[in-house]
Amino acid sequence: MMSIIEQEKKDCWSCAYQNILLQTTLLGICTWFEKNNKGQNKEIPADLVDKGCKQWIRKTDR
Ligand code: SF4
Repeated sequence: MMSIIEQEKKDCWSCAYQNILLQTTLLGICTWFEKNNKGQNKEIPADLVDKGCKQWIRKTDR
């Protein structure tokens, strides 16, 4: 049985890969690419930032 409490929002804002300090846009960039040797980091698109993607991992450092 799935618990509703276990679910959390897996958007870019709560993802460890989002970096808003290196930003070129307000939405920040996704650092997944360079951390996984997949080429240059990319700007997070507006239609993705509130949805996230399957590479999401929880942001731990606050
Ligand atoms: S695009 Fe995916 S990996 Fe990148 S910041 Fe958003 S949820 Fe995280």
